Amino acid sequence: MSFRIHNTLSGQVEEFKPLHDNQVGMYTCGPTVYDYPHIGNYRTLVFQDILRRWLKYRGYALRHVMNLTDVDDNTIRNAKAAGLGLREYTGKYIQAFEMDRQILSLEDPEIVVRATDSIDDMVKLIETLIEKGYAYASEGSIYFRVGAFKNYGQLTKIDLSGIRDGARIDSDKYDKNDARDFALWKAAKEGEPFWETALGPGRPGWHIECSVMSMKYLGETFDIHSGGVDLIFPHHENEIAQSEAATGKLFVRYWLHAEHLMVNGEKMSKSLGNFYTLRDLLARGCKPSAIRYLLASVPYRRHLNFTFDALHQADQSIARLRNFRLRVAQEVFPPGENTTLQDRARAACQSFEDAVDDDLNTAEALGAIFAMVRDANTAMDRGEFRDGDRAAFLNTLDRWDRIFCVLEDNDHEKLVKFGFIKPRDSTLADRVPAPPADLAQPAMGNGHTGAATIELLSDEVIERWVAERNEVRRKGNFARADEIRQHLQKAGVILEDSKLGTRWKRK
Ligand SMILES: [Zn+2]
Repeated sequence: MSFRIHNTLSGQVEEFKPLHDNQVGMYTCGPTVYDYPHIGNYRTLVFQDILRRWLKYRGYALRHVMNLTDVDDNTIRNAKAAGLGLREYTGKYIQAFEMDRQILSLEDPEIVVRATDSIDDMVKLIETLIEKGYAYASEGSIYFRVGAFKNYGQLTKIDLSGIRDGARIDSDKYDKNDARDFALWKAAKEGEPFWETALGPGRPGWHIECSVMSMKYLGETFDIHSGGVDLIFPHHENEIAQSEAATGKLFVRYWLHAEHLMVNGEKMSKSLGNFYTLRDLLARGCKPSAIRYLLASVPYRRHLNFTFDALHQADQSIARLRNFRLRVAQEVFPPGENTTLQDRARAACQSFEDAVDDDLNTAEALGAIFAMVRDANTAMDRGEFRDGDRAAFLNTLDRWDRIFCVLEDNDHEKLVKFGFIKPRDSTLADRVPAPPADLAQPAMGNGHTGAATIELLSDEVIERWVAERNEVRRKGNFARADEIRQHLQKAGVILEDSKLGTRWKRK
């Protein structure tokens, strides 16, 4: 089956076919870098990461462009308050954003551009719009004349003709002829940064940035443009108007939008006390892999309800998958092959691929993998699994993980690398140390205790403890073996001894 995706422009799920052979041009609206993004922003970014990984999985050559909005009212206001230049101030949040992306295993777009590095191109596009009669100047600013673009509203699909003066739909506080008109260029204001250009001193509006940077790197017509649903209007509607008015060509072929993230069933907001940035969650001891898994687990067009219980369940699901992979790789099985079981692994791979092809149905893709894990575990427990069956299962897991990216146990490593926790000496001392203080979990608010049980011992560290325990048991030091068991238990790791050896799992 081919890849099918929901296009906001047509309102339908369509077969995806790039404009040029197997080359895909994709643009995603990046953050305004005046603060740390919240987890709702990361829901959209994880969806876009799944999308880019899937396009590559399906053999497309991808050129993905993302902008960084480093000039607007918020960046100007905050930079001023911090006593920093705009570039210096936004640089700090660009760096934090890069760090967050690595923590969540988000691949880098092929091209990431700061808006302020494309001012000249924005001026040129605005000049074209003035020449063609789609833009006008008023008191030093320049506005797009919405009434002149007859297809306005094609993405939003609502009748905007009723919006008149007084019913302001854009927050720009400048003079314009029609309430629907929006600023392309904003006149310089006292004490604010500005660029001296052919349009006069000023700075670009937000919408023009994305039209310019997308077409600059992807051409006048390109394949995919994506963002959160809150960007459909006015941002993306305005991007279409500016771009198509200037070029006379179709701007974007597929518009993809991710739904909102809710927290405990409510809209996330600072006043409700349910507003989280990624670093708020990490400071509470939540694991990067669990956050990524949770954000990826709900298909992008459905509301995602974020709770700490769901995060805890995500962590347990990841532990189940990692332990399964370990069992397949390490347990001793009788020689030979069980082709029925291998067919089961291949069928699961097919189901996973079919699900992702179906408008990125990540929930079904997860379901396919867990059904396989359950069947394979049952076969192992019954002694039906054979030595020659490992590869088929490992292959399915690895293919699945090219998209979901949670099987490698690198949470601890990432948190240490970016300074969220201190490095621990994991060498095995004679005495079993107490769990390190940096793993102490603060209590959860809102009655949620889920994350409090989430631990950060890596697979590697756990396995070294298990090996150490096997060694002391062999020497008859059962008291110390018990100590190690209890220590691991405190860290959320359960040991199961059997005649095949010791298996461990996370609580
Ligand atoms: Zn944009």
